[in-house]
Amino acid sequence: MKQLTLSTDLTSRDIQPVKSQSSPLPHTYVHNRVTKPQPENKRTRSQRARERLRTKEHLSRLAVGLGEVELADKLQRCHSRLSVLTCGRHIARIIPNFTCEFRLCPDCGRRRSRKLQNKYLPAMRGFMLHHKVTPVHLVLTQTHRKESRKQSAKRIKDSFTRLQRRGFWKQYFNGGTWSLEFTKDKNGLHHTHLHIIGFRRKFFDIELLRDEWLAVTGDSHVLHLKPIQDIATGLREVVKYVSKPLDIRRFGADDLKEFLGLKNMRMFGTFGEFRDFCKDFEPSDNDAAVSDLESLSRDLVEGCACPYPQCGEPLFDLRMSKNQLPQFYEQMDGIAPHAPQTCAGCEGSENTVKYSKI
Ligand SMILES: [Zn+2]
Ligand SMILES: [Zn+2]
Repeated sequence: MKQLTLSTDLTSRDIQPVKSQSSPLPHTYVHNRVTKPQPENKRTRSQRARERLRTKEHLSRLAVGLGEVELADKLQRCHSRLSVLTCGRHIARIIPNFTCEFRLCPDCGRRRSRKLQNKYLPAMRGFMLHHKVTPVHLVLTQTHRKESRKQSAKRIKDSFTRLQRRGFWKQYFNGGTWSLEFTKDKNGLHHTHLHIIGFRRKFFDIELLRDEWLAVTGDSHVLHLKPIQDIATGLREVVKYVSKPLDIRRFGADDLKEFLGLKNMRMFGTFGEFRDFCKDFEPSDNDAAVSDLESLSRDLVEGCACPYPQCGEPLFDLRMSKNQLPQFYEQMDGIAPHAPQTCAGCEGSENTVKYSKI
């Protein structure tokens, strides 16, 4: 694969050269980020890419402090060099040189959550058709206690297991997925939530579900439930906790140490009839759209036509460092300033075809 350089090949396609990676961030930007965090979907891809760099630097420093030199080295190497397949207006695919696969790595987390979406979205569509069920997003919470993260996660998962055994649950739900979300309050108490996509057989009174949750937890009746209009969006919402299980910016050395102890804990799973359905599920041509998209992008190489609708320009392979990616996104935004932002889940990233103008 031919290696192109930023300075020569980009300018030859009327794109401004990437600025030096050492150029400082504008103060206003830093100020806004620190004092007024913006919602995920309001930030540009460039801002999100910078955020990921900062998170990885932070994690790497914590790892060095704990003597986890190997982990720090892996985080530094992960996505440090990128091969970007681009037509000059769109990004078709980004291939990293190395992936650390560390659970808290934001780059690897995005890959993981995308894989989960590609795996489960066709199955969810198939399950809904087959069983005539409607999806809801259910968030289960529990009271805060002085306990470790591991104990907190085990407590809520055990409560959920008990809930599934109850007649009420069986009557109204026939399976779904769950993922864990961890947060910590200013007093250092762990708040663990379970985000569930539940397939509901029929409507029920939410108060009855609160009573059921109280019965299995003994002291908590707090839960939230909302219908999912679009299953792709709903799934993306839930798997984002797999890529970002907690607020790493407020993460200290003790938190990392504790998290390293959770190595084998599952953060995402399926349950009930949906779990059995997934075991035998073979996507048909109709419900494999996401998988098709995945394989389409995986097969792209330099010289292929850009897959963006009505583009078809040849793709070229642009090599860049991790620090250049945010600026590259900015350049792309400059080419198509009024283009819509893409959702977090299909943002021009690894193994994903970019279907939005950037
Ligand atoms: Zn294109
Ligand atoms: Zn990584």
